[in-house]
Amino acid sequence: MSALKPGSTIGILGGGQLGRMLANAASRLGYHCHIFAPEADPPAAEVSAQFTRADYTDAAAMETFARACDVVTYEFENIPFDPVAQIAKLVPVRPGTEALRISQDRLFEKQFCNARGIATAPWRKVTSVADLEAAIDALGLPLVLKTCRMGYDGKGQVKVAAREQAASAFAALKSDHLVAEGFVSFKRELSVVLARGLDGHIASWGPVENIHRNHILWRTHAPAIIEPALAAQAEQIAASLATGLDYVGTLAVELFDCGDRILVNEMAPRVHNSGHWTMDAAVTSQFEQHIRAICGLPLGSADRLCDAVMENLIGDEIEAWPALLAEPNAKLHLYGKSEARPGRKMGHVNRLYPRGQAPQPAQP
Ligand code: AMP
Repeated sequence: MSALKPGSTIGILGGGQLGRMLANAASRLGYHCHIFAPEADPPAAEVSAQFTRADYTDAAAMETFARACDVVTYEFENIPFDPVAQIAKLVPVRPGTEALRISQDRLFEKQFCNARGIATAPWRKVTSVADLEAAIDALGLPLVLKTCRMGYDGKGQVKVAAREQAASAFAALKSDHLVAEGFVSFKRELSVVLARGLDGHIASWGPVENIHRNHILWRTHAPAIIEPALAAQAEQIAASLATGLDYVGTLAVELFDCGDRILVNEMAPRVHNSGHWTMDAAVTSQFEQHIRAICGLPLGSADRLCDAVMENLIGDEIEAWPALLAEPNAKLHLYGKSEARPGRKMGHVNRLYPRGQAPQPAQP
């Protein structure tokens, strides 16, 4: 296994806050980052050595970028697949293109999980209103109808509560590549964030509990307080997915805790919002670990130093920054975004607690 030496250049596709925090971690290890993104002034470019502003479908710009990098990674999965596959012929792309292909499509993701014996909510492929009606017969009501591609933060999905809603629900999603999922009455939502190195070694931060508000992650409680057997099941599922994908880097797997078993909801082939707590409460953060993995370095310890509750600062919640800085055990992270639009992730705060003393998870 050959490690990339400090001083090498890491290319990052995408310029958001995840790219910014990756670039900060890379810089601490002596690497240079080159951001590729279509937006002007993306948060990641501000802290990186180089920035190419171009569209992902600009093949010439992508090739020039790839040739200037020693390894390329991505900070979001809804990036056009073909240009990434093209540059993978020129430079190592980690995680690999297979992880990207599968996680771009909910159908592929569910097929991949189920083929490995990993349970998801029961589901049916839907390409027409007739398919949706058949799915209602098979799965019962309510169900959740989701676009297979480009969904995030609850976008691209509708709950179907009655058979008469089939036609309007199908029309609302404006796509004929959909999946219907049986409605899961879960006890709580979990995720497992782990990293897998180039040598196949896995380091996991363990299951955490996630609380959403308006379909956007609000708080992550680390660790999740759950039955040890379920925690072990969640860990095994995430590790099995990482191994099955021959994954290199940080991977997040979102899960439903149904009380007696764990189901996979979806996975993200990247650093993840529910892993932000690791910046202040783990020996190695998810960002540093991703950089270590893609550069072929040994992984650091994923041990937790203390308990933590991560809270996202959405829109004008960022204005609380002076009060947050005055909290002695709070660590504030701001993303340098100029405009605080509603629903926009502007920063997060990690509140640190001695083991066993964090507040209980509560709904907003
Ligand atoms: P997703 O975009 O798939 O992560 O879904 C967003 C949120 O919708 C999840 O975090 C859950 O709270 C809820 N959800 C998604 N799928 C289901 C399901 N099959 N049953 C119940 N709730 C769901």
